[in-house]
Amino acid sequence: MSRESYRIACIPGDGIGKEVIPAGQTVLEALAAAVGNGPGGFDFRFTKFDWGGDYYRRHGSMMPEAGLDEIRDMDAILFGSAGDPDIADHITLWGLRLKICQGFDQYANVRPTRILPDIDGPLKRCGPKDLDWVIVRENSEGEYAGVGGRVHQGHPIEAATDVSMMTRAGVERIMRFAFALARSRPRKQLTVVTKSNAQRHAMVMWDEIAVQVSREFADVKWDKELVDACTARMVNRPASLDTLVATNLHADILSDLAAALAGSLGIAPTANIDPQRRFPSMFEPIHGSAFDIMGKGLANPIGTFWSASMMLEHLGQPEAARVLMQAIEAVAADPALHPRDLGGKATTAEVTRAVCDRIKQPPDAPSAPPPKGGAAGGRGVRQPVQP
Ligand code: NAD
Ligand code: MN
Repeated sequence: MSRESYRIACIPGDGIGKEVIPAGQTVLEALAAAVGNGPGGFDFRFTKFDWGGDYYRRHGSMMPEAGLDEIRDMDAILFGSAGDPDIADHITLWGLRLKICQGFDQYANVRPTRILPDIDGPLKRCGPKDLDWVIVRENSEGEYAGVGGRVHQGHPIEAATDVSMMTRAGVERIMRFAFALARSRPRKQLTVVTKSNAQRHAMVMWDEIAVQVSREFADVKWDKELVDACTARMVNRPASLDTLVATNLHADILSDLAAALAGSLGIAPTANIDPQRRFPSMFEPIHGSAFDIMGKGLANPIGTFWSASMMLEHLGQPEAARVLMQAIEAVAADPALHPRDLGGKATTAEVTRAVCDRIKQPPDAPSAPPPKGGAAGGRGVRQPVQP
């Protein structure tokens, strides 16, 4: 077996992105050394791109005009955050993150949510097994298609539109992706999130296409839920959900709610996938630049590590993905290693070191028995506090 050498574009971007992405790189390097050595192993070749707010201040754009060509041949992209205190959010978002997502037609945005061992979530009646979701977000059109305009700017008759654009091809491909993902999970269950009571054109087409695509997936149980009712169901009956599919805007909001219900925005990962693999897919924590803590070394890097684990799955390294996920769970289970967003005092560097140490431990070291139920269901692996 030949060794794989994965070319990874690292785009830290702004704010705490500049702290968590180097941490992610450190952890991936530790993983390549521990799991990827030997024949049939793997390593990484990282290339860093300094695109974002600072680049904008120097060049007047968030990334070079032909920037996509610089990363087109990479195997994957590890992304931090776009968002600068001194630059308007629609410029940072459209100029970098959306440019990559749309340029590379990463139409499936996948956001898993679980309550990691010993994380104190806000749902008091909810055990870790009651919340295990994957939200699939349509990532290429809908409310964020960028269609619209402004007229009469500054005058009393000023008007503006943001038109949600849905295409049959776009809805079909995200439905098919979501049904297939639901089928790959043990419960084979999908909830199609909609708002076709109030939005009576595109969302009605969305519902119709869900019915059509469902016929290709007779073994997947599925139901339909209005997005507002879905928020209540996530809080009141979390165990009734498994895989969800929703539009760009609806899933954007639902997945932040999901992250908060699981304990913190600092933990939650996401993947922007081109399922056809024509282009590199992009992996990123779901949080933003976190202006209030940037530059202080306090950012929780777990969202980035979990995203890196999704990247390894996508690259075809499920064993490495599992080892990383187990290390994350072991560290999450130790309150002494909780950063500020989880109510602790640990720094980005301390959490990163703890995850690296854990990765280096041989799998059956007596101090660290593997969690019962494997990576997905494991709970409560205690790790001694790092000196
Ligand atoms: P945010 O995620 O940056 O911060 C929200 C709150 O959560 C803050 O109090 C922050 O300190 C905390 N937080 C977030 N991530 C954390 C982590 N890893 N560790 C500890 N605490 C964490 O959201 P916001 O304040 O709405 O946005 C700030 C900027 O980031 C804006 O410019 C916004 O446009 C941008 N943003 C970018 C992305 C992206 O690039 N994907 C996503 C969201 C927001
Ligand atoms: Mn969001």
